[in-house]
Amino acid sequence: MGEFDLIRQFFQRPVRRAALGVGDDCALLAPAPGMQLAVSSDMLVEGRHFFADVDPAALGHKALAVNLSDLAACGARPLAFTLALALPRADPAWLQAFAGGLLALADAHGCELVGGDTTAGPLNICITVFGEVPPGRALLRSGAQVGDDIWVSGTLGDARLALEALRGRARLPAAALAAARQRLERPTPRVALGQALQGVATSTIDVSDGLLGDLGHILAASRVGARLDASVATELIAICAGGSSAGGHFDLEIDVETRRQCALAGGDDYELAFTAPAGLAAEVRAAARQADAPVTRIGRIEAEPGLRLVDAAGQALPVQHYASFDHFA
Ligand code: ADP
Ligand code: MG
Repeated sequence: MGEFDLIRQFFQRPVRRAALGVGDDCALLAPAPGMQLAVSSDMLVEGRHFFADVDPAALGHKALAVNLSDLAACGARPLAFTLALALPRADPAWLQAFAGGLLALADAHGCELVGGDTTAGPLNICITVFGEVPPGRALLRSGAQVGDDIWVSGTLGDARLALEALRGRARLPAAALAAARQRLERPTPRVALGQALQGVATSTIDVSDGLLGDLGHILAASRVGARLDASVATELIAICAGGSSAGGHFDLEIDVETRRQCALAGGDDYELAFTAPAGLAAEVRAAARQADAPVTRIGRIEAEPGLRLVDAAGQALPVQHYASFDHFA
C-alpha cells in the first residue's frame, strides 16, 4: 500500500464544517465570525508515551484525547485537527483499528480531520487541534486570585496506578487493573466542562503531568500560592474508592504513600484543575452538572508564593515528593 492509498483509505473523509479538508496543500478552516482560534499540539512517542503492543484503537483514541484535553483546558470548542504520523510499516489491520479509535472520538466531538503528514519511521503520532472560543473568554493559567477555591474534575491517579501495575510495581486484581487501564489508555477529555466554566473559572489547566506539577503552572502564571488538602485529592483515586467507570468495587490494599504518589504526581489523568472565586461555588457546581462532570474542591489560593500540602490532620507534607513527570529531568 502506497502513502497516498493509505491516506485515502484511512484518513480522507467527506468534509463537514471545514472549507477544505484532506487532499490539497493546505486545509481551509472556517471558524464562526469573530471567534478566536485555539491551537494546540501533542505528540505521542512509542516507548515514551505508550508500549509498542498497545491496542491501536486505544492509541488512536488517546492521541486525539490528549489534544482535546488542551482545548478543554482553554474552554474552546473543537473544530478540526491535523495528524502527522510516522509508521514503521503500512499494516492495514493496525491502521483500520487506529483510525477507528481516532475518528470515533473525533466524531463524538464534531472535530474533523483536515490534513496531516505520513512518513515511514519509528511510530510517532503528532496531532494539532484547532478550536474556537469567543474573544476574551478563553480560560488561561494566569487568572487565579487570592481567596479562590481550587477544584479538580473527575478522578485522579487511576492511570498511574495502572502504569505501576503494568510495570510490576503494584499489584491489582485483574478487574481493578482493567478499570484502571481504561483511564490510562482511553482518557475522557473534559471538553464540555471547559466550555461550561467560561466566565466562572479564573484559571484552568488540564492534569496531564500530575496534579501538583500542573497546579504549579497555574500558581507561577498567576503569581500566587496555594494550600492543598492531600487527603481529599488522594481519595479521588476511583478504583481505591470503590467507584470506577467499570462500576466494579474493589477492596484494594494500597499504602497511603503509593496513593498519594498516584493522585498527586501521577499524570495522564486528563482532568481539569481550575480556580474560581469562593462566592461562585454554586456556579461551579451548576457548570459541572451541565457538563455531567463531577468536581471536588481540593484547596485554596493564597498570597504567599509556593504550594503548602497538608494531610487530613493539617500536618504539612513534603511537596517535593510529588513532583510531576519531566521528560528531561
Ligand atoms: P504535501 O506534500 O503537499 O505536504 P502530502 O503529500 O504530504 O502533502 O499529503 C497529501 C495530502 O494528504 C495533504 O492534504 C495532507 O494534509 C494529507 N495528509 C497526509 N497525511 C495525512 C494523515 N496522516 N492524515 C490526514 N491527512 C493527511
Ligand atoms: Mg504541498
